[in-house]
Amino acid sequence: MRCKAPLGCDDVAIYRKMVLRCATEFMCIDCLAEYLGVSRQAIEERIRFYRETGSCALFR
Ligand SMILES: [Zn+2]
Repeated sequence: MRCKAPLGCDDVAIYRKMVLRCATEFMCIDCLAEYLGVSRQAIEERIRFYRETGSCALFR
């Protein structure tokens, strides 16, 4: 919603996971990282973590 970068399902899923579960508008990973005050790498690591553990239904 902040920039026009194309969003992958990972972007959508991590946004829902970390910000708002029922969100209908999303940020790309770069904007989300800035919004949360963390590094992009930290976001990517969380995506990988959720996917590998299968702990989150948003990551399939
Ligand atoms: Zn963006």
